[in-house]
Amino acid sequence: MTTFLGLGEMGRALATVGGAATVWNRTPKAFPGAAVAATVEEAVAGTGLIVACLFDLTSVHDVLDPVVDGLDGRTLLNLTTTTPRESRDLAAWAAGHGVTYLDGAIMAVPEMIGGPGSAVLYSGDAAAFEAHRPLLDRWGTATFLGTDAGAAALYDMAMLTGMYTMFAGFLHGAAMVAADGGSVTGFAAMQAPFLAAMTNGLAGFASTVDTRDYGGPGQQSLAFTDTALAALLAASAEQGVDPRVLTPVRELVRRQIDAGFGAQGTARIFEELSGGNR
Ligand code: NDP
Repeated sequence: MTTFLGLGEMGRALATVGGAATVWNRTPKAFPGAAVAATVEEAVAGTGLIVACLFDLTSVHDVLDPVVDGLDGRTLLNLTTTTPRESRDLAAWAAGHGVTYLDGAIMAVPEMIGGPGSAVLYSGDAAAFEAHRPLLDRWGTATFLGTDAGAAALYDMAMLTGMYTMFAGFLHGAAMVAADGGSVTGFAAMQAPFLAAMTNGLAGFASTVDTRDYGGPGQQSLAFTDTALAALLAASAEQGVDPRVLTPVRELVRRQIDAGFGAQGTARIFEELSGGNR
């Protein structure tokens, strides 16, 4: 028996694809094919697995604190977005009440759940991950990242950092094109395959960072990148586009150059971000 708490956009998609037996939502909502509980107490009564997809950490506590003393021996799968520390705190809180904890981070939008490209990261209790694989596999590719309950959230946040900065960069470029009356739709059609091709470079950056070999062959130097960013900023100014997306990138590069690393690879930005000049 599985209970789903939260029937927002994502919770509803998970409950639908997951074949929920019992559902509950703060604001009562119909859910054909499942028992709709009137209260959280009623929703979790007798259930083995509780799947929570609420808004944030506060909402998880709002919903579960009043009933947690009766959940000894159950499993909580929390798919609500939390930071790594929040996930670890939730795992400790659950353990303190005899509840097995599995954390999940959804790398998809609701329409993707159960379809191609849908992926969910998990961490926490390994036995719970294995025991519930049939359910987890229905939502998308299930990847277990280890028993540190915060791992799924960490990788989620790290990946979303790449996504949001990419979106901001795209919108900056769109503003440059639009300033001359260009179509943003047309620009997107050119930008998407270019960015996809550029992602091939991630593996090279990664091995450079892992080996700290910023002086190896074939790397674009920080000095070269600085010149390129200066040109991008000049072009942005010509187009009247706010430089606030680009300026921090150039500042990171400049700081590494000022520290004497101009001839080394651009992946050294990693050192600036990590707070070290190894
Ligand atoms: P929605 O805003 O659609 O739904 C939020 C849900 O949380 C609703 O069921 C809402 O209940 C409930 N809720 C909010 N606050 C409380 C509270 N204090 N007590 C009880 N219930 C509360 O969000 P989503 O469904 O889209 O997202 C849910 C989670 O999934 C979030 O953590 C989100 O980050 C994560 N996620 C979402 C993705 C997406 O693309 N949508 C992608 C990846 C992760 P009510 O209906 O009563 O307001």
